[in-house]
Amino acid sequence: MNGDQLLRQMHGLKSVFENKESELTSLDREIGDGDHGVNMKRGFSAVSEKVSAGSAPEVMRQTGMTLMSSIGGASGPLYGFSFVKMSEVAKEDIDKENLIEILDTFAATVASKGKVEGGEKTMYDVISKSSELLRKTGALKLDDLQSLAQDTEEMMATKGRAAYFKEQSRGTIDPGAQSAVYVIHALGEGVAE
Ligand code: ADP
Ligand code: MG
Ligand code: MG
Repeated sequence: MNGDQLLRQMHGLKSVFENKESELTSLDREIGDGDHGVNMKRGFSAVSEKVSAGSAPEVMRQTGMTLMSSIGGASGPLYGFSFVKMSEVAKEDIDKENLIEILDTFAATVASKGKVEGGEKTMYDVISKSSELLRKTGALKLDDLQSLAQDTEEMMATKGRAAYFKEQSRGTIDPGAQSAVYVIHALGEGVAE
């Protein structure tokens, strides 16, 4: 995946999040403040306006900077800073091997910035298992990613706004885990082209 291909994937997330806005909003309405759909849509709409051609690492870095400045809430700095850190390990031409490294960096950045570990019902539960998925199956299939998000449904949240819901947070997929499915799927699609 070169810079042009990555740019196409990042710009493509604008319409993905337009289509998924209501899904993410309903999840966040159950265990948060109901803005995750709007946040992701606003973030990737800004990416499609502001991020222009460059090498793959440049596109990744610009995407991160744009997400940081356009998404409010917890997810903005987590996704934004992660993309900036991921750009530091991205090659000019991202292959599967490099994407594994990029996804490991994604997980490590969210872990340190969010002070989160597995099983806390966050985006980290999808992100942290994605590189292993790619290594094992050779792909990042939507169904496989979705089943990682599905695993957060029965978890009890201990981080972010959802943690205020305590036991009541069980029974809903974490909104950030769901948005991570789409972000990671887009990266995988670019490499599979
Ligand atoms: P906010 O909760 O501030 O309104 P969003 O609704 O955009 O922000 O994002 C909520 C998502 O952010 C959650 O579903 C969760 O996946 C993720 N999140 C929140 N806090 C953390 C954290 N400390 N570590 C990892 N992810 C987190
Ligand atoms: Mg929210
Ligand atoms: Mg909010």
